[in-house]
Amino acid sequence: MFTIKDHLEIQDNHLIIGGADTVELAEQYGTPLYVTNESRVIENFSSYRKAFPDADIYYAAKANGSFALLRMLSRQGAGADVFSYGELYMVLLAGIPREKILFNGNSKTDFELQKAVEIGVKVSVDSRDELHTLSEIARRAKIEVEIAFRVNPDVSPKTHPKISTGLRTSKFGIPSEEVVSIYQEASELPGISPSGIHCHIGSQILDTSPFREAAEKMMDIVEKVTALGIDLKFIDMGSGLGIPYKKDERAPTPQDHAEAILPVFKERTNALGISPKLILEPGRYIVGDTTILLTRVNTVKKAAKNFVGVDAGFNLLIRPVMYDSYHYAVVANKASEPPSGTYTIVGPICETGDILAHDRELPHIEKGDLIALLDVGAYGFSMSSQYNGRPRCAEILVKDGEADVIREREDVEELMAKQRLPARLM
Ligand SMILES: *Cc1c(COP(=O)(O)O)cnc(C)c1O
Repeated sequence: MFTIKDHLEIQDNHLIIGGADTVELAEQYGTPLYVTNESRVIENFSSYRKAFPDADIYYAAKANGSFALLRMLSRQGAGADVFSYGELYMVLLAGIPREKILFNGNSKTDFELQKAVEIGVKVSVDSRDELHTLSEIARRAKIEVEIAFRVNPDVSPKTHPKISTGLRTSKFGIPSEEVVSIYQEASELPGISPSGIHCHIGSQILDTSPFREAAEKMMDIVEKVTALGIDLKFIDMGSGLGIPYKKDERAPTPQDHAEAILPVFKERTNALGISPKLILEPGRYIVGDTTILLTRVNTVKKAAKNFVGVDAGFNLLIRPVMYDSYHYAVVANKASEPPSGTYTIVGPICETGDILAHDRELPHIEKGDLIALLDVGAYGFSMSSQYNGRPRCAEILVKDGEADVIREREDVEELMAKQRLPARLM
């Protein structure tokens, strides 16, 4: 037995995840199939907690909102960063206490703000407009809502432009130069208790210097806000820690993340004589490498390239198309065979761009082979759709060689579930 990418193994030519043989899983549960390794989720969460022993870890629910996963993280003591009422609803059902939830978003509906107020979660406010709406809702409900402002620290995270969220031109956050005045304004508004500050500079960040730069800029602002007489109870630095998608890629660890920001946080809060709680919001790091997507080869076609047509497309994994992202591919039933050709793995969707992996050196591939795409736990299933009339696939969770279905495969009836015909078309 040998390992590939850390926690995945190969045994008798088959790819093994969490002690389970992927070839058997595909036979038993069908393909396409998302498979998550439970122990790996716990390991990743624990390493974040170990790196930041005094911080609260608010898992970013959008990375992977599968309920079993939310329940596991809730049992580990995770809080949650939610971006919609739907996510709030699910993390509460999973048992995450309301005290450990931050409601984020740049365009929340009045309904969502109303829910946040009633339930009593903290709100990260993204604009002056939202501040006034929230104040009015809280005043009417006679409830005091704890808020942070999402600050745009104007830091380049050196990542893909679509996942850079703290650039000056990004849609997220209050521009740094307006932050002090908006805290002043908030402190005078009914129903509003300005008690934290928040930023999140991007995702898949592979260099820790932007984290440090953001921490320093945030602490400059904290200093000014504290000088207004506002007592900040929490400082939420977001996350965005990257993971290694390519085989020999190097990525910082939570420990590296901690070394980049904790000295800044500690030194500056000590100097100010304040003791706010530090909050981090990792998503990708917790779940990214825990999950694989198993997909069956329908056809192999030698044309301008060797196209391998599989049964999963960007309906199930949109990252390669949307972010040009790379997912390591393994022929799961030929996992220890040497490469014998260059293959481009494409999905069944009616779009030229439906390419999951470009020009990979892989063992000889034929119809019926099983391909595993690795590291699809973050922004994988959670971004899936039914495009092209394709019901979503199943998700299973494996632990010590045992598998459980955590989401049933949809069938074609689900495509019709909420559709209605006007009487004239009956
Ligand atoms: C998406 C998001 C996160 C998580 O980002 P990762 O790159 O998955 O760690 C954290 N905070 C906020 C506000 C987010 O929008």
